[in-house]
Amino acid sequence: MEKMMKAAFLERFHEPLVLRNVPVPEPGPGEVLIKVRGCGLCPTDLHIREGRIASIRPPYIPGHEVAGTVEALGEGVTGHPLGEHVVVGIDVVCGTCDMCRRGMEHLCRNRVRIGFERNGGQAEYCCVPAECLVPIRADIPLDEACIIPDAVACMYHAIKDVGSVRPGDRILIYGAGSLGIQGVQIAKTIGAHVTVAGRTQAKLDASREAGADALINTREEDLEAESARLTGGLGFDVIFDMIGIQETIDRLLHLTRPAGKLVLVGYAAETFSVNTQETVVKEKQILGIRGSTRQNLRDCVRLVEEGILKPYIYKKYPLEEINTALGELEHLTNVGRVTLSMP
Ligand SMILES: [Zn+2]
Ligand SMILES: [Zn+2]
Repeated sequence: MEKMMKAAFLERFHEPLVLRNVPVPEPGPGEVLIKVRGCGLCPTDLHIREGRIASIRPPYIPGHEVAGTVEALGEGVTGHPLGEHVVVGIDVVCGTCDMCRRGMEHLCRNRVRIGFERNGGQAEYCCVPAECLVPIRADIPLDEACIIPDAVACMYHAIKDVGSVRPGDRILIYGAGSLGIQGVQIAKTIGAHVTVAGRTQAKLDASREAGADALINTREEDLEAESARLTGGLGFDVIFDMIGIQETIDRLLHLTRPAGKLVLVGYAAETFSVNTQETVVKEKQILGIRGSTRQNLRDCVRLVEEGILKPYIYKKYPLEEINTALGELEHLTNVGRVTLSMP
C-alpha cells in the first residue's frame, strides 16, 4: 500500500491553505526524503498566498524554513545516515554559473527555491536535493532549528557580509520583527552596540531580552533626537532597514554617518529616491541583501549548536493549524518566528 502524508496545499491565491492526504513523495536521483519535524513561517508565505510572487504556480506545498530527519535516500546519495538531523538550505543552485563560481550561490542565476518553485515543508515529508542539507546536532529542537536557513542565516549574511559590522560599531536595526530580533543576537556576538527601533513595545522588550543595548519606541520617542543622543550626533555606522519603504529609506539615510552603510533587508516599495548630498557627497552606501550563502547557514548552525545564537521562536503550531498560524503573521501579533511543529 502506498504511504500517505498530510500536506498543506496552496490551491488558489488569496484563499486559506488546504490540508490534503497525498502519497509520500519518492526521492529522485540526488535527493533525500526528509521527515519534516519543523517548518518556520515567514512573512513571504503571505506574499506567496496572495499571489505576489510571480514564479509561484499553485497547487503546490509552500514552506521554505525546513528541518527534519533523513528518512530515505535517492539514487547516488551518500554521506547522510538515516535518522540524521538536518536543516535544509532554501536555494537549489546550479553550481556552474558565474555567481555560483564566485561563491555567491545565493545569487545563482538558475536557482529554484524549496517552498517556492518546488514543494516545501508544510507537510509531513519533503524531498530535497542532498546538497541542501546541513546536519545539526540531535539535541537542538528541530521545530526551532528550522528557522536557521531563513530568519537567522539571512540576518547573519546581512550583518556580517553585507553590513560588514565590526566590534564597537554603533548599529541601528529599524523594525523589531522576527528577523530584527535575530539580528540583535548576531550583532552582539560581533561586539556591536545595538539599537533597535520599533513601534510595538512587546517586540522591543524581546529585542532587549535578545541583547539590544538601546531601544527607541518610535510611537513615543523622536527617532532623530534619540539617534543623535545615542551616537553623539555622529550617526550610526550601519543601519538595517527591515521595512524598506520610501519614508524609512529617506529617514534612515540621514541617520547614517558619512561613509556608513544603509542595508535594505526589507523591501516593500518598487522604487525609491534618495538625496544626492547624502549619498554622493557623504559617500553613504545603500546596499541590498538577499538570503544567505550555504557557508552562512553552516556558520549559523554551528553558532546555535554552541549556544551562541538561539532561534527566537514565538509560538509553535501543529500542521493542522497552519491557517491560524499564518493569521498571526497577517495581524503582526507574533513576537519572533512562528513555526509548525510535527511529531
Ligand atoms: Zn522567508
Ligand atoms: Zn548558479
